[in-house]
Amino acid sequence: MRRQRWREPEYKISAGRCGDLKFNDAQFAEFRKQVIGRIVVASDPDYNSCRGTFMLAFQHFPQIIVYCVGFSDVVACIRFARRVGLHVVCRSGGHSAAGYSVNDEMVLDVGDMNYVLIDPATETALVGAGANMAALNAALDLYQLHVPGGGCGSVGLGGYMQGGGYGFTSLLFGMNCDSVIGVQVALADGRIVTANQHENEDLFWAVRGGTGNNFGVLLEIKYRLRKLGPLWGPGSSGLLPLRRTPTPPASRSLSGRLILRARNARKAWGTSPFWFIPKTLATTI
Ligand SMILES: Cc1cc2nc3c(=O)[nH]c(=O)nc-3n(C[C@H](O)[C@H](O)[C@H](O)COP(=O)(O)OP(=O)(O)OC[C@H]3O[C@@H](n4cnc5c(N)ncnc54)[C@H](O)[C@@H]3O)c2cc1C
Repeated sequence: MRRQRWREPEYKISAGRCGDLKFNDAQFAEFRKQVIGRIVVASDPDYNSCRGTFMLAFQHFPQIIVYCVGFSDVVACIRFARRVGLHVVCRSGGHSAAGYSVNDEMVLDVGDMNYVLIDPATETALVGAGANMAALNAALDLYQLHVPGGGCGSVGLGGYMQGGGYGFTSLLFGMNCDSVIGVQVALADGRIVTANQHENEDLFWAVRGGTGNNFGVLLEIKYRLRKLGPLWGPGSSGLLPLRRTPTPPASRSLSGRLILRARNARKAWGTSPFWFIPKTLATTI
């Protein structure tokens, strides 16, 4: 039997509801060869689900959606977009309440760049811009390490951190972006740069709270981590452990809000870890 040779499938792009496409079949085929991640265009069966974001109010019809799996995919997208004149928006978790992560031209999705690498020795983490809150918290929980994070597991770090990122522990540890010690960003000219306290200081300042999409494509975040002890929250039968450490607090009279106990906070910050719990309650813990 003759072995069938693997052939690059032929892609025929159709505009669908996208209006006039800014690229032709040949340009698209060339671009496809440079990208490892998935590319979705209007003729794909799952185009509709791919073009959506968390906020259904924003209905856009991108000409092309690219699920980047690595830095090289991001650079290929930027170069392609510049060549054919596509306006690009970035998407990480797709939770932008203003609909900023979808447009009618190119959506550069980093959601597949979702790794979390923790170094417990240096108490730092390298996090792909597409990782979400659930993935980050689960990885950190293994080591009882922490950065301030929100309650919604599917919010993407790419958008959250660049918006500042307020979390349950922000009164103790600051905003999420305050724990960032470095980032990797792909600029509009396709260069990848590191930004931290010593290199590209302006960019480092700008990405921490200036909201995404403005200064380049955020690729990776480096966090300084904090130690965090047991956590409890109110449940039907009193306070329940939220993390793996099972010891409940002595008092059962607390309810109605998340109670956080960070054993090491006093040592690390020289202040009481309970200072944001009302005084009357703090005495009962
Ligand atoms: C259910 C829900 C719960 C939330 N809870 C909290 C909370 O507890 N605390 C809090 O502070 N906020 C919270 N938010 C707000 C949330 O942090 C912001 O909406 C955030 O921008 C979402 O990030 P994202 O990556 O999921 O969204 P996206 O829509 O993917 O991105 C948001 C913005 O960042 C840009 N962006 C995304 N990725 C990149 C990238 N790699 N490079 C450059 N730009 C990029 C996008 O273009 C867009 O402008 C919540 C939002 C929702 C919907």
